[in-house]
Formats: sequence, C-alpha cells, structure tokens
Amino acid sequence: MAQRGLLIVYTGHGKGKTTASLGLAMRAVGQGLKVIMIQFIKGGWKYGELATARRLAPDFQILPLGKGFTWEEKPAGEDERAAQSALIKAREVIHSGEFGLVILDEINNAVQLGLVELKQVLDLVKERPERLHLVLTGRDAKREIMELADLVTEMREIKHPFQKGILAVRGIEY
Ligand code: ATP
Ligand code: MG
Repeated sequence: MAQRGLLIVYTGHGKGKTTASLGLAMRAVGQGLKVIMIQFIKGGWKYGELATARRLAPDFQILPLGKGFTWEEKPAGEDERAAQSALIKAREVIHSGEFGLVILDEINNAVQLGLVELKQVLDLVKERPERLHLVLTGRDAKREIMELADLVTEMREIKHPFQKGILAVRGIEY
C-alpha cells in the first residue's frame, strides 16, 4: 500500500526550522520527489539557499514571493494581501500533482500575526492530496495544527551566537 503523505511541523523559538526543512528537501530530492518551498515572510530567503535551489532546479524550487510583511514590523493591508497570495499559490502547488513535498515556510507566523486565518491553513491541510508530504514551519504553531500533524518538532533555544553579539554568519544564517 502506498505511504500516506505526512504533515510535519517545525516550530519553537530556537534556530533550525527553515534549515531543517531545507535538509528534508535535500533528502527528498535524492529520493526522486519534486520539492517546492513557499515563503510567507519577507526577506526570509537567504542567498545561500536561493543559490543552491538554482543548482537543483527543477527538482527543488523556491518561489520568489519576497514581498509583504516582516515580523519586525506591524503588519499592514499590503502584508495581508501578500500572505493571502502566498496562500493561493500554496493551494495551487499542493493540488498540481507535480510535487512530492511542499514546504510552507513561516506560515505559522503568518497565522499568529492574523494575516492568514487558522481555518484557511486547516482546510489546506485537510484537503491535501493523499500522498503529498507537507511541511509547515514557523514559531508559535497553533495547537489545532499540531494536533493534525504526524510529526511536530519544537526547536528550543539553549544557546545562540547572537547572545554573545555574534551577528549573522555567512553560510550559517544566510
Ligand atoms: P534558520 O533559518 O536558521 O533555520 P529558523 O527558521 O529556525 O532559522 P526563524 O524563526 O525563521 O528561524 O528566524 C528568522 C531569522 O532569525 C533567521 O535569520 C534566523 O537565522 C534567525 N534566528 C533564528 N533563531 C534565532 C535565535 N534564537 N536568536 C537569534 N536569531 C535567530
Ligand atoms: Mg525560518
């Protein structure tokens, strides 16, 4: 019997959510799955993964949805529109039948900020094709989403170089 697709959540305030999903993408591509990642937060894409994705195309794609809100700013109407258009794109790729793994990066933050409704995400999750693996990342994942998930990992910060004043390191942060 064919394996059902898994719902995977990477949450928590420690570093490693987006990079964990990139690692999963690397593994999945090696197994012949096509992977796509959609970003729900502006500036979330770092040069490192964008450059790598270009080498792996078309098996791995990162969608250039760079506009919209950041979590440092107070969300405005434009931010909500950007998050909603990311959601429309997400629905489209989920139902395209083209991908084995879809990653919605920072979507949990978008829900937390009220730019995407919880129900919209729950509907997306429930209506996904049987075989599709879906990854949702971002701090503060809602309980209702975690209840539906097959796998939930919470990144917990124990140490971060930022605490010692070490700012973004090339190859590690971007
Ligand atoms: P990464 O992309 O490195 O896997 P993440 O996805 O877990 O991190 P986010 O919550 O998306 O982290 O964080 C957004 C930005 O803040 C990223 O550039 C990330 O490197 C950085 N960051 C993540 N965790 C911490 C932390 N505990 N302290 C300081 N900066 C952090
Ligand atoms: Mg992240």
